[in-house]
Amino acid sequence: MAGAMWETVIGLETHVQLQTRSKMFCGCSSAFGARPNTNVCPVCLGLPGALPTVNGQAIRLAVRAALALECRVHRRSVFARKNYFYPDLPKGYQISQYEEPLATDGGLTFSSADRGTVRATIVRLHVEEDAGKSLHDRMPRATAVDLNRSGVPLAEIVTGPDFRSPQEARAYLLALKEVLQYAGVSDCDLEKGSLRVDANVSVRRIGATELGTKTEVKNINSFAFVEKALGVERERQIAVLEAGGTIEQQTMLFDVKANAVRPQRTKEESKDYRYFPEPDLPPLVIPDAWLDQERAAIPELPAAKRERLVARYGLPAQDAGVVTQAPGVADYFEAVVAAGADPKPAANWVMGEALADANQHDGALRVAPATLAALIALIKGGAVSTQAAKRVFTVLAERGGDPQAVAESLGLVQVADTDALARWVNDVLAAHPAEVARYKGGEVKLLAFFVGQVMKTSKGKADPKLVPELLRQRLES
Ligand code: ADP
Ligand code: ZN
Ligand code: MG
Repeated sequence: MAGAMWETVIGLETHVQLQTRSKMFCGCSSAFGARPNTNVCPVCLGLPGALPTVNGQAIRLAVRAALALECRVHRRSVFARKNYFYPDLPKGYQISQYEEPLATDGGLTFSSADRGTVRATIVRLHVEEDAGKSLHDRMPRATAVDLNRSGVPLAEIVTGPDFRSPQEARAYLLALKEVLQYAGVSDCDLEKGSLRVDANVSVRRIGATELGTKTEVKNINSFAFVEKALGVERERQIAVLEAGGTIEQQTMLFDVKANAVRPQRTKEESKDYRYFPEPDLPPLVIPDAWLDQERAAIPELPAAKRERLVARYGLPAQDAGVVTQAPGVADYFEAVVAAGADPKPAANWVMGEALADANQHDGALRVAPATLAALIALIKGGAVSTQAAKRVFTVLAERGGDPQAVAESLGLVQVADTDALARWVNDVLAAHPAEVARYKGGEVKLLAFFVGQVMKTSKGKADPKLVPELLRQRLES
């Protein structure tokens, strides 16, 4: 395998939307999904003479992100103009930060399949405003421009060239998303464009110490595609180098349908942004109080929470990973346990039915923790089977109520009553004389068939723990 001689090196630049109500430099709403060009004003339209004012909440959230990512937050940073021409950029420049960013020197640990726990360095975190959006599918043969996003506050988070595989890049992004969601910095919703990734990738011969020439892959809008796009680009680079060629430093676009990457048209590629300090804004100075307040606003982060769930409840690391994936889910799990459920079954229900239901209802965990704990208790006590409990759960999620009452109303409470059991067993044996004869002739594995028939006849109400025993008694007497 030729690829085995090469090492992959990846660094990521991630833009996340800071979850403020208004834009970075004006009072317009930053909400997603409004009618095109309705959330705009002279500032974010770039009209001459309009002056920006800084949104303090955006800066607070960026500070919080920087602290959650263990960065050094600079008390003083500087806004800079990044100049380029594009139809969705009415001012002709974006206000960003360049030589003096808000924060530097952080890190984020993630778990690598190959290398275990790895800490990616966060080289820098700076604030900037988003551009508008070009819409290519609204009008025939024309491009429309929506400036609702123009001026929406972003944090850009840049890692060192620290990832050694596309899988690691993806694992880091998942960890980043978790931290930022926990900290309440961003919803990191890829579909709404509130998390976007530019991925830089190069390859070098194993053992080489210098980095190879990198390309930058853009246009990646899902974590699965990050992994795919980087895999495809790595293979392309290796093929070029093995054929004796050289890698050209350029921007590549990922084409999902073709599962291929192509160079971006060079016209759009000019990297000369002519940065200079933004003359309309003073340097950004962070008050001491903000640092303390934002540090205090950061809850227990996912990595710490995972360790605690493993230590305190004896959860398998894998379960702890799933339960901590979204803020709120771990709290829910802990509330179910606090209401009396054993940790492992509680985790199974949270990871299974509860999350499946939440995924279909905007993330809402619709069954109250105490109710789920009561349902789990019914299973433990033998009153309902796990299968039946899942049906009860569905009703509880839709309509609420008491698990016992719902199970009874659905006729799902198991009957341990021996009279009823005996009747079902007799009915089944009478209905299947041929199988009874075969069983008596030595085909004892038919027991499972009879158990199934009894469960069916009883509509699931027979206690499955009692049925085999009773059948055996009848068949072998
Ligand atoms: P540029 O000036 O082209 O933007 P930077 O030095 O700012 O390059 O790095 C941008 C991103 O690319 C960072 O995440 C960095 O870690 C990553 N990077 C830099 N050099 C390489 C390389 N040779 N291979 C892979 N990633 C790289
Ligand atoms: Zn505006
Ligand atoms: Mg750069």
